[in-house]
Amino acid sequence: MITAEISEIFVSIQGEGLYCGQKQVFLRFAGCNLNCVYCDEPAAHVKRCQAPFYGHRSQVIGCKSQVTSHKSQEELRAERTNYREMSVASAAAEVIQLARKNRAKAVSLTGGEPLLNWGFIMKLAPALRKAGLAVHLETNGIFYRELSKVKNLVDVVAMDIKLPSSTGQKPFWREHSEFIKTAPEKTFVKVVLTSKTSLHDFTKAVKLTASVPGIVPFFLQPATRRTLPAGAVRPPTGVFLEKACCEASSRLPVVRLLPQQHPKWGVK
Ligand code: SF4
Repeated sequence: MITAEISEIFVSIQGEGLYCGQKQVFLRFAGCNLNCVYCDEPAAHVKRCQAPFYGHRSQVIGCKSQVTSHKSQEELRAERTNYREMSVASAAAEVIQLARKNRAKAVSLTGGEPLLNWGFIMKLAPALRKAGLAVHLETNGIFYRELSKVKNLVDVVAMDIKLPSSTGQKPFWREHSEFIKTAPEKTFVKVVLTSKTSLHDFTKAVKLTASVPGIVPFFLQPATRRTLPAGAVRPPTGVFLEKACCEASSRLPVVRLLPQQHPKWGVK
């Protein structure tokens, strides 16, 4: 029986991107293949120590080079947080029950990185859709082979483009380029900006988004002090944001500057 490590299932208001303000059920997978300096999500840290053992878990198609972490196995182990090992049936039942109780019409599969569990999503998404829920996938935009497996089963792909100057990670331009081509008609893009973000990286992300046919909405998400761990990088300046907005608007039809809203609303 296929299972996944799920850190939480809850109802809230979407605070980012194209569906900002929509009530949704969130299913948060534990674990992530990245280690962004601005990450404020403890669930991401659960499987950082496990992700390199793709062959063992036999769920991820992507290559090992897509996993980056500068932390030692000891440090990574120390970061483990709680999660539940859930079956598809139990996860689906919990999501559907919450959605009905709270009149939510969509579910966000988030993380961590949900595509680490693409096999689980292949079984889960049809059950959620059958119950009348739109399925949104929130992803770091790297596992394009895995996206190709699930793209027909989801309704929206919220894709991050990870700028190396923002994340402190290696670049993933080739993976992002493949990823955005996989389901552009369902995709919108988000880039997180910090005081370290370079305009060069940002422009590359804009060009990459402009390279696919159709309209792919593009969101600039400045990191806020709340979302940045203490001692990490700072939010970007207003001058930088103006330049970045101008650059994006010169090449893309739909560009929005939108910091995370849910902290302002006092919701999860
Ligand atoms: S990709 Fe997202 S969840 Fe993973 S480390 Fe980066 S910010 Fe955290």
